[in-house]
Amino acid sequence: MNYKNFPMVPRVVFGRGSFNQLSELISPKRLNINAPFIFLVDDVFKGNAWLTSRIPLAYDDKVIYISTKDEPKTSQVDSLVEEIILTSRQGTSGIIGIGGGTLLDLAKAVAIMLTNEGEAKDYQGWDLVKNPSVYHVGIPTLSGTGAEVSRTCVLTGPEKKLGINSDFTPFDQVILDPELTKDVPKNQWFYTGMDCYIHCIESLTGTYLNAFSQSYGDMALQLCKQVFLEDNLSDMDSQDKLMMASWHGGMSIAYSQVGVAHAISYGLSYLLGTKHGIGNCIVFDHLEEFYPEGVALFKEMKNKHDIYLPKGICAHLDDSEFDIMINISLSLEPLWENALGKGWKKIMTREKLKQLYKKM
Ligand code: NAD
Ligand code: ZN
Repeated sequence: MNYKNFPMVPRVVFGRGSFNQLSELISPKRLNINAPFIFLVDDVFKGNAWLTSRIPLAYDDKVIYISTKDEPKTSQVDSLVEEIILTSRQGTSGIIGIGGGTLLDLAKAVAIMLTNEGEAKDYQGWDLVKNPSVYHVGIPTLSGTGAEVSRTCVLTGPEKKLGINSDFTPFDQVILDPELTKDVPKNQWFYTGMDCYIHCIESLTGTYLNAFSQSYGDMALQLCKQVFLEDNLSDMDSQDKLMMASWHGGMSIAYSQVGVAHAISYGLSYLLGTKHGIGNCIVFDHLEEFYPEGVALFKEMKNKHDIYLPKGICAHLDDSEFDIMINISLSLEPLWENALGKGWKKIMTREKLKQLYKKM
């Protein structure tokens, strides 16, 4: 047995309003006055002075607003890197990602690709990155993905949707300011919050489970139940707790794996562009066979918050399109093995998977 030596985020600030400390946190990391900090910011905040006026710009520092219409692509990372290199010839002091999982993953990928040759697609996989990335900071504004703690950044490339998993991927600094999540629309709050809940269920019921993952998973699950099922939390408490649930959920899967819902939703995402949070919800809703208790509780939460999930998203697909999704999904072997054990191929056949997709 060879145990993973898992890198963790070395520095984290937690607290409402802690975003105000950004300047004092990053200033000591400035390489020189010609090496800017680049802030990658979700364009939902464009024109939002409450947030943007607190981004501490000095010298040649730059804000790049990014649309989250699509989840991160390798080509998008490559063009951002090109743009940044052209405008900062004396190096980049740091990349600061402000937003949900999309922006956090983009920030991680750009930080890696600034110091590694070639294209982002060359690094999709495990431990392919050679050089340490530039200093990078993650500031989540939406809770659930665990991207703020994870060792991966998920990218859609020409051939696959797969993360850059490496020791250089985790952030050097994270700022957890739950107040930044106060204006998240309700449906999005639910979808991305459920990503965390599903991380917990997939980790806690998986064959890879161990005491490390269980301790974080139990904690995250308990927080999710408080946030999504109890009525006695203030908005502030709820935001604080969901941000910590996301963190713990991410830590839980770090030392185990996700499972059936993620394996299936990656197929939807690759073919149809279905977003991670809502995609996982659409899939998980049909997985009572694999996660009976988890799915029952999910339905309870969905009903409690009046969430209606899209139906029939695969209704118009032809066989070749089902094949594409099935190929993407079944290629995620560790996820299936975690969920169903070593004999997973006998349980999740192509036909079985197709029937599941047809229900969605
Ligand atoms: P997202 O980042 O795509 O954002 C979803 C929507 O919420 C966007 O429209 C965005 O503009 C909006 N939004 C974000 N913060 C807001 C705020 N404070 N107020 C108002 N609107 C706000 O969604 P997500 O679910 O956080 O992230 C999904 C991405 O995360 C996917 O690309 C997925 O692959 C990735 N992911 C990564 C990991 C990892 O470990 N690296 C894990 C899970 C998911
Ligand atoms: Zn997820």
